[in-house]
Amino acid sequence: MIHIKNVCQLDGTVGSLTIPSSEHIELDVEGKLTAFPGCIDAHVHLRTPGHTHKEDWRTAAQAAMAGGITTVFDMPNNDPSCVTKERVLAKKQEIDQQLQEIGIPLDYQLWLGAHQNHFNEIGKCKDLVIGVKAYMGSSTGDLLLDDPNALDELFRIAALENMIVAVHAEDEEILEEKKRQFLGYSDPAVHSQIRDRKAAIKATQQVIALTEKYNNQVFIMHVSTKEEIDLIREAKKRELLVYAEVTPHHLFLNESAYVHLGTKAQMNPPLRTVDDQKALCEAIQDGTVDTIGSDHAPHTHAEKNLPYGKAPSGVPGLETTLPLLCQAYHDDKISLEQIVRLTRTNAEIIYDLPSNKDYVLVDLELQKVVDNAQLKTKCGWSPFAGQMLKGWPVMTIVQGKIFYV
Ligand SMILES: [Zn+2]
Repeated sequence: MIHIKNVCQLDGTVGSLTIPSSEHIELDVEGKLTAFPGCIDAHVHLRTPGHTHKEDWRTAAQAAMAGGITTVFDMPNNDPSCVTKERVLAKKQEIDQQLQEIGIPLDYQLWLGAHQNHFNEIGKCKDLVIGVKAYMGSSTGDLLLDDPNALDELFRIAALENMIVAVHAEDEEILEEKKRQFLGYSDPAVHSQIRDRKAAIKATQQVIALTEKYNNQVFIMHVSTKEEIDLIREAKKRELLVYAEVTPHHLFLNESAYVHLGTKAQMNPPLRTVDDQKALCEAIQDGTVDTIGSDHAPHTHAEKNLPYGKAPSGVPGLETTLPLLCQAYHDDKISLEQIVRLTRTNAEIIYDLPSNKDYVLVDLELQKVVDNAQLKTKCGWSPFAGQMLKGWPVMTIVQGKIFYV
């Protein structure tokens, strides 16, 4: 049993916390730490198999502990991509091996990739995965589902199997057209023009129409524009089971970041405007946003230092999500209860997860600069490096094991 005395609860009262464990640990944190339920990050790319030079589950699990994240859902755009039962099982085996080596019992789920040639695998994987992920616009990896008929078929099957569909909603046709239009441009800021908001809006409309047709449960990942928010808000009013995820980078960065970050501000969908950031914040306030996912998508310094056009899209985020949200709490932009809903309870409910006794103890008064040298992620950088944030995890407890940050 782990017994922690004098720990602050979210409502400000001080009490004690008892967590089942094979170890016997007594701690007194003297009212200095606040207990949050361990965060669920339903959107990470931990790069196994195929891209372990960017990240693996040994480094990612340490990064998760440092960030107070006790459950992750890993995306299928691996090499080979995770699109069959056989690959799901092989991937699980590899992950379990890596987690065992590092001794961190990180809770995890896998997304199955939607691939036109492997739709017959979806039903077979039903009990092995958390849901099925469709890439409507091309991103990292070879998963692309841009044929409207195939997308329709996916939604039909997923409804039949009662599986959640997660979508990367960007319209491939618009992306292709914009790529041609901006061919040869080298300023990374062009990324936000190439991946035009119209692509995200059109794809989101398409997804909502399909959801309505087949009565699916759909998660629209990394919502980045005001218009998508409006569409989702309206769909929710009509009681469609459309859920929205936003990322910390779309909340806390905007198009101006290219100036100092270059391609380290490049991700899909891209950074948007200040007005979009405002719309995302409002959507958090009114409950249109269901979860915050890091979309932790690490690439090495060397890869990111390539010129625009060659540099891959994606930024890491496991270690900074919670500190960024704590800073937003100090800035009166979000309440602690909202943080818990967005990083834990909403995901628990929507994905119907078994309950657990994972916790993260946060020092809400601790101020620290995001320092690349201290990050546990293998890629070793953060788009938020250099920012002073107030409120950091101090210990993370997963499956009865304590990890000190
Ligand atoms: Zn992603």
